[in-house]
Amino acid sequence: MYNMYPDIKLLINGQWRDGRGTALPVLNPATAETLGSVAHAHAADLEEAITAADAGFRLWREVSPHERGKILRKAAALIRERAPEIARLMTLEQGKPLAESQAETLAAVDLIEWFAEEGKRTYGRVIPSRSRDVTQLVVREPVGVVAAFTPWNFPINQAVRKVSAALASGCSVVLKGPEETPASCAELVRAYADAGVPAGVLNLVFGNPAEISSYLISHPSVRKVTFTGSTEIGKLLASQAGTHMKRATMELGGHAPAIVFADADVERAAKLLCASKFRNAGQVCVSPTRFLIQDKRFDEFVEVFVAETRKIKVGNGLDSGTTMGPLANTRRVAAMERLVNDAVSKGAKIAVGGQRIAGEGNFFEPTVLIDVPADAAILHEEPFGPIAPIVRFEDFDDVVAEANRLPFGLAAYAFTGSAKIAGDLSVALECGMLSINHHGLALPEVPFGGVKDSGYGSEGGSEAMEPYMNTKFVTQLRV
Ligand code: NAD
Repeated sequence: MYNMYPDIKLLINGQWRDGRGTALPVLNPATAETLGSVAHAHAADLEEAITAADAGFRLWREVSPHERGKILRKAAALIRERAPEIARLMTLEQGKPLAESQAETLAAVDLIEWFAEEGKRTYGRVIPSRSRDVTQLVVREPVGVVAAFTPWNFPINQAVRKVSAALASGCSVVLKGPEETPASCAELVRAYADAGVPAGVLNLVFGNPAEISSYLISHPSVRKVTFTGSTEIGKLLASQAGTHMKRATMELGGHAPAIVFADADVERAAKLLCASKFRNAGQVCVSPTRFLIQDKRFDEFVEVFVAETRKIKVGNGLDSGTTMGPLANTRRVAAMERLVNDAVSKGAKIAVGGQRIAGEGNFFEPTVLIDVPADAAILHEEPFGPIAPIVRFEDFDDVVAEANRLPFGLAAYAFTGSAKIAGDLSVALECGMLSINHHGLALPEVPFGGVKDSGYGSEGGSEAMEPYMNTKFVTQLRV
C-alpha cells in the first residue's frame, strides 16, 4: 500500500484510456525507482480530445452558473474526502513532504469552492445610452475550448486554478498534465468527472509536451491557451498563441527579491523567509530568491537564517519528521550543483549545505550562500531549488534598483517596521505580487500573476475569470 501507484490514463470524452503512444515511466524522486507509467497521447488522441471538448463546450455553456457551481462544490467535497490518498500519491511522485502534499490538496478544495461561487458573479453591465429607445448591454460569454499546460512542482495547484476558472466560466478544457507527476493531477480531474462534469467538458492528456502544445495551440477549435512553467517555454507558447490569434495566460518564472530593512523584526523575518525558501525544496515560482538584507543587520539575519536552515530534516517525504524532500527530477540536482560551483568559483562562501546528498534519490542539501558576487549566475537565473543567496544593501534606492534589475517580476517580499518604507516599496517595486511583513500570497480570492518576463494574466481573485470570458456588446433600438 505504501508504494502502490496506479498506471495513469488519459481522460477523453469521459473515458479513461491508454494513448496511442508508448506509455512513459514515472519515477519516485526519493528512491529513483519506477512507480508506474503514464499514457502517451498521439495526434489522433489529441484530435479526439478536441472534438470532445468542442461538443462539451456547446453543452456546458448552456448549464447555468448555479448548476456549474453545484458540480464544482461536489468535486471539492470529493477531493476533501480523498485527500489522504491523493496526498500520498503526490509525495510518491513529486517528493514533497506529506504535510505539504496534504496542504496543497486541501488548498484545491478552497480554490474550487471559491470559483464555484465566483462563476455566479460574472456580471455584464448596462451602459446608459444617448437615446431613450436604445439599450446598450455588455455581456460576458465563455471563450470556448481551453488548452491548459501545467507543470510538476504543484501537480494539483497549478491545474486546479486553470480548470476551476475555465469550468466556472462555462469553458471546456483539454488539460496537458505533468508527465513527471501525473497521478495527483489525474486524481484532481477524476474528482471533477465523478462530481458530474459531463463527458468531454474536461479532458486530460499526457505525452510529448512540445508535440501536444503545437497541436493544440494551432487547432482552430482551441480558443484560449494557458501555461505555467519556465519563461523560455512560455515565450515559445505565447508566440504560437500569437501566430494563431489565441488568447493566452502565462504564469512563468520568477526571482523574488526578499528585502529586509534594518528597522524590521529581523529574527522573525529570517525565520519566516527560511520556511518559505525551502518549502517544496525551493521549487516554487514565488519562492523568495534574492535575500537582500540591510547592512547593519546583515550578520544577525544570516545567523538566524543559517540556524533555521540547519534544523531542516531532509528525507523521503513519506517519512514522518521530514521537512524537505528530494528535488523533483535529476535536472534540478544538476542545476543546483552548477549554480553553487559557479557562485563559489566567483568568490561566494557557503554558510551551510552546498552538496548533493549521496545515495539514491535527488537529494540536495538546503544551502545558504553569502558574499555572493553580482556576476554569479544564481543572482540572474531562477534557481528553482534549495539555495538561498544572501547579499547586503545600503539604502532604499540601492535595494529598489537591485530588486527591479532582473527581467522577472512575479513575487516580492519585504520586511520593515516603517509604514513610509512599506508604502514607498509598494509603489517602486516592479512585480505582480508584494507581500510585506508576512507571507500572504496565493489565496483563492487574491490576484496571482506576474509582470515583465514573469508573464501576464491572473490566476486568482475576480481577475482570474477574465481570461476565460469574451466581452460582447449588444445595442438594441426598440422599434
Ligand atoms: P521546462 O522549461 O522544460 O519545463 C517546464 C514545464 O513546461 C514542464 O511542465 C514541461 O512539461 C512544460 N513544457 C516544456 N516544453 C513544453 C512545450 N514545448 N510545450 C508545452 N509545455 C512544455 O523545464 P523543467 O526542467 O521542467 O523546469 C525548468 C524550469 O522551469 C525551472 O527551473 C523553473 O524555472 C521553470 N518552472 C516553473 C514553474 C512555475 O511554477 N512557474 C514550474 C515548473 C518549472
